[in-house]
Amino acid sequence: MTAIRLDGLTKRFGDFTALRAMDLDIRDGEFMALLGPSGCGKSTTMNMIAGMEEPSGGRILFDGRDMTGVPMSRRGVGFVFQNYAIFTHMTVRQNLAYGPKMHGLPAHEIERRVKAVADLLQLTAFLDRPSAKLSVNILQRLAIGRSAIIEPAIFLLDEPLSNVDAAFRAVMRTELKHLQRQFRQTMVYVTHDQLEAMTMADRIAVMDQGVLQQVGTPLGVYNNPANVFVARFIGSPGMNLFRGRLAESDRGLVVDLGSLGVTPPLPDQLSAVARRLSGGEVFYGFRPEEVSVSAEGQGIRLPVTFVERIGARTIVHFGAGEAALKAVFDNDVGLSAGETAVIAANEKTVRLFDLATGLAIGSA
Ligand code: ATP
Repeated sequence: MTAIRLDGLTKRFGDFTALRAMDLDIRDGEFMALLGPSGCGKSTTMNMIAGMEEPSGGRILFDGRDMTGVPMSRRGVGFVFQNYAIFTHMTVRQNLAYGPKMHGLPAHEIERRVKAVADLLQLTAFLDRPSAKLSVNILQRLAIGRSAIIEPAIFLLDEPLSNVDAAFRAVMRTELKHLQRQFRQTMVYVTHDQLEAMTMADRIAVMDQGVLQQVGTPLGVYNNPANVFVARFIGSPGMNLFRGRLAESDRGLVVDLGSLGVTPPLPDQLSAVARRLSGGEVFYGFRPEEVSVSAEGQGIRLPVTFVERIGARTIVHFGAGEAALKAVFDNDVGLSAGETAVIAANEKTVRLFDLATGLAIGSA
């Protein structure tokens, strides 16, 4: 097990900065997800941790030891890519045994590990099959097995599930978490899929345009996003956000949403912090899961534009453009396109962001 520290880690490709002064502490035995949209610098970060790319600035420390100049082969990392690296002329057993053999492990130990990893990743039935004939799903499982079997102190996975089908992805999410608990490795997992990050990681590092935006537990980043990027990116759908202006009313501090009306008074704690904000221009945010709807009453009145039924949940789309919002309900919600409803946010879950900086105002 190894703790990883990124200290001002920077990567430039010519004039372009792919990663900007990233500071991140990944604890011993922790499952850390690097999450962000395509091109945000996740793989670049990972490649530098692995030793495949040299940083342009900053340092990477493993248990306090500076890794500058230490080649990949001496870093004790296992790396699984999106595109599995498998020897197709070998059987599954030979593929699994390859790494331990190269490390000079004795035959009985290799056999023990092959059995353990095959059991864990449900590869036992395929052990003597030629790899060339396996499905994409099984090949990716084998690729993970090939790295896991070396029992690296640090396990790096870069979008390992993006090529497998949805049902298999769900199975693998559980298995990977199980694998990490079993071996207690420090695991860094790159993904653009927030569901993967939310379900597996102990903590998530959310990135955008080469800049680390927030680090926290899955629920921490969901409940208290540090800025509007994280608020929109985390959650499915992301947080509803409306431009508005803080205003005093006889019932307390409210947000004037212009043509959408005026919000109910903000909770006391949030009001206290928001009153200190100069200018008073904000984004008013709330989660699609944290709303109630009614025919009349106080809230945002909007027409239903689309009802999306996705099994156990229904996503109702209201309004359009700047006045669009989404709400998530159980399947039995009685709303259809064309109706108008009043949507009220659950007051405790309302979040405010400074319109100018995008940064959260206070936190729960
Ligand atoms: P994706 O999931 O699409 O790979 P990512 O978050 O992993 O996204 P990176 O692969 O780290 O993103 O790339 C970050 C940025 O750096 C991108 O704009 C990419 O085009 C650029 N980049 C990456 N490698 C190089 C390179 N060798 N030369 C020039 N630019 C590069």
